[in-house]
Amino acid sequence: MLIKLIDVNKSFKDYKVLKNINLSINKGETLAIIGASGSGKSTLLKLMIGLERPSSGQVWIKNEDIAKLNEEELDKVRLNMGMVFQYSALFDSMTVADNVAFGLREHSSLTEAEIGHIVEEKLNTVGLKDFANYMPNELSGGMKKRVSLARAIAFEPEIILYDEPTSGLDPVMAGKIDKLIKYTQEKMHVTSVVVTHDMDSAYYIADRIAMIYEGEIIALEDAHAIKTSSDKRVQEFINGGRI
Ligand code: ADP
Ligand code: MG
Repeated sequence: MLIKLIDVNKSFKDYKVLKNINLSINKGETLAIIGASGSGKSTLLKLMIGLERPSSGQVWIKNEDIAKLNEEELDKVRLNMGMVFQYSALFDSMTVADNVAFGLREHSSLTEAEIGHIVEEKLNTVGLKDFANYMPNELSGGMKKRVSLARAIAFEPEIILYDEPTSGLDPVMAGKIDKLIKYTQEKMHVTSVVVTHDMDSAYYIADRIAMIYEGEIIALEDAHAIKTSSDKRVQEFINGGRI
């Protein structure tokens, strides 16, 4: 078990966003999280990397309950985790290469030559080796996502969290991102949690799929088993709804 949430609740003021979340993710597994907009998916991901703290409950990453850690301790745990944010979150004033190098410069004692080598390798992995000196605003949405992924894998993390990595992309680019996610599983043995609205993507990349409905996990099944779920809310989402 690499990630384990126990009785997690999260409220913003009086509003309960997540209710009694219990969830375990095994080493090497890819879990997709589906659910309507506003159901609490992004908040759940943020809890897993300590960008939000639970109002109650435990958030275990390997052998630490990160809900109890201070910022400095959290930073150490985060070195083992990458996150691909929904809006890529690149620094617009830095080149692609500097964006990928940023964390390594901040949080490692590697030399510039070593960092340069890693950046080149990771950009190559995501198919952007010729774009090292571009600025983010010169790239398409899909390319930005791939830079974001290159940055996430720079530390060779054990865990990567993705918030809607294929949303807003055309099907071909979405497919490329899915293939890269698969590559990180198969070649880098990364454990992943992927929030997505895209069921084709979920079936392709995930071992299991969890559905959140109004802050609760209402289904958690093997990826293809969820197709035959008897829960009406699940059926409505997976058949009706790209949201
Ligand atoms: P999803 O990613 O499934 O669309 P979110 O986790 O972003 O959902 O948000 C779930 C609910 O929590 C929404 O109603 C949202 O407005 C609310 N929410 C999220 N973050 C905050 C915050 N920092 N402060 C107040 N409310 C928030
Ligand atoms: Mg979200």
